[in-house]
Amino acid sequence: MPEKKYKCALCKKEYLRSADPKTDFFPFCSDRCRLMDLGSWLREEYVTSRALSEEEKADIAMKEEEGEQDG
Ligand SMILES: [Zn+2]
Repeated sequence: MPEKKYKCALCKKEYLRSADPKTDFFPFCSDRCRLMDLGSWLREEYVTSRALSEEEKADIAMKEEEGEQDG
C-alpha cells in the first residue's frame, strides 16, 4: 500500500499519517502544531467575543428590557 503524504495545516510540512490515533495529529504533522493552531484560534475567539457588533448590542439591550418585565 503506498503511503500517502499530507501537508500540515500549520507549518505546511509534508508528513505521513500515523496509524495510531494517539500519534495521529491530522491535519497537523505533530502535537505541537495542533496545539499552536488551537491556541491561535482560541485567542481569536477571545478577541471576537469581546467586540460586540451593533446588532449584538441591540439584541442584548432588548433581552435586558424583556427581563425587567418578567415577574
Ligand atoms: Zn506542522
